[in-house]
Amino acid sequence: MDSRLEAVRDTVLARNPGEKEFHQAVIEVFESLGPVHDRHPEFLEGAVLERLCEPERQIIFRVPWTDDAGRVHVNRGFRVEFNSALGPYKGGLRFHPSVYLGIVKFLGFEQIFKNALTGMPIGGGKGGSDFDPRGRSDAEIMRFCQSFMTELYRHIGEYTDVPAGDIGVGGREIGYLFGQYKRITNRYESGVLTGKGISWGGSLVRPEATGYGTVIFAQEMLKTRGQSFDGQRVVVSGSGNVAIHAIAKAQFLGATVVACSDSAGYIVDEAGIDVALLSQVKEVERGRLTDYAARRPGSNHVAGGSVWDVTGTVALPCATQNELDGDAAAKLVSNGLIAVAEGANMPSTRSAVSVFQEAGILFGPGKAANAGGVATSALEMQQNASRDSWSFEHTEQRLTEIMVGIHDRCAATADEYGAPGNYVVGANIGGFVKVADAMLAQGLI
Ligand code: NDP
Repeated sequence: MDSRLEAVRDTVLARNPGEKEFHQAVIEVFESLGPVHDRHPEFLEGAVLERLCEPERQIIFRVPWTDDAGRVHVNRGFRVEFNSALGPYKGGLRFHPSVYLGIVKFLGFEQIFKNALTGMPIGGGKGGSDFDPRGRSDAEIMRFCQSFMTELYRHIGEYTDVPAGDIGVGGREIGYLFGQYKRITNRYESGVLTGKGISWGGSLVRPEATGYGTVIFAQEMLKTRGQSFDGQRVVVSGSGNVAIHAIAKAQFLGATVVACSDSAGYIVDEAGIDVALLSQVKEVERGRLTDYAARRPGSNHVAGGSVWDVTGTVALPCATQNELDGDAAAKLVSNGLIAVAEGANMPSTRSAVSVFQEAGILFGPGKAANAGGVATSALEMQQNASRDSWSFEHTEQRLTEIMVGIHDRCAATADEYGAPGNYVVGANIGGFVKVADAMLAQGLI
């Protein structure tokens, strides 16, 4: 790495001690940026990187709530408003016990580049809480969401900051959050949150968008080698929103998805995952993959273990950060892998990415491959602003065009900067240059 960048990186790491996921995301971006600074010395002179790595605003707040037995709980809420050079802060809320500032900052940092790549007018932000929704009743979830929004509402707005869902935050939670925002502000401000229900300002295709988009991105990568999803054997991690729709789209394109996972284990279904059953078990009943295996003849459940032990030609990690390490990557490669597209954010460790790149595997990093979700959120904002609602076909067509555009921009940028086929370099430089230009144009703020 360039010594000037190294110095900036070391300062950023020292200023943010203990935030290992944020460090990982920063290091990965810095490793790509050397050639940009050779061509654009103005970025160094304007301290663009130093400013980019320091969030514009970080909000941490108490979230008190009562469970069904009347016991009081206190969680911690976060919203990191990272960068607004291109538009209002935009990024999801994550409810998971692992959430702390370092996770919110890594996600918010990635979001800046991802949002820039979509070509839409959205800045980067992220938020969430260490609240664990698992096993909680609807009433408990509602009380938590209401308490969370009672603080968050003063920081957000359609021209300021527009949250959406992420792990543990789906349509149900967005509904409770929106209801509380409306009640406190006395405003029906549809554009303040995305991922809303269809009858109250949501967009068709938003639930499917991240998973569909990931597969569309992978399909574009495969095309560069004269291949497609048709006939591929696909392994997916996770079984939530992103995973389910990635499975559906891959199978629609002719692949067989033979495995998916949750935090307790994985299922193998050689006939191809039954998406309707998976959706019923995970989204409607909020059950476990053991329930799927019990109801699906020919499938089996493996408790614990790693879904990456299952042989496949395409891997779609759609669960969480750092779920695919160097050993798992090496195993996948030796089992005949040809492509990886990240539906999750930073699911591959740095050593896994090296293994894939050294083996010449097509590798689509999350900030490019999973950008379909936030892009469709931006389409939801457009519909809200014009009081319109588009058909499924029209919205899906827009999503497809956006994903193909992101793929092509990453590929062209990688070529331009001397790293053909390297989508990590293409995504990092493509996103960075756009944001850096806007930051310089807007002066020292
Ligand atoms: P969901 O909450 O719907 O599903 C998450 C899935 O991942 C579940 O199957 C869950 O298993 C599993 N999982 C979560 N944490 C862990 C863990 N620590 N170890 C193992 N498995 C885990 O979330 P989404 O599908 O929305 O999000 C998945 C990923 O996609 C995240 O990285 C998110 O940031 C990213 N993403 C999501 C977008 C969206 O639009 N929703 C947009 C862009 C990226 P279990 O049920 O057992 O907890």
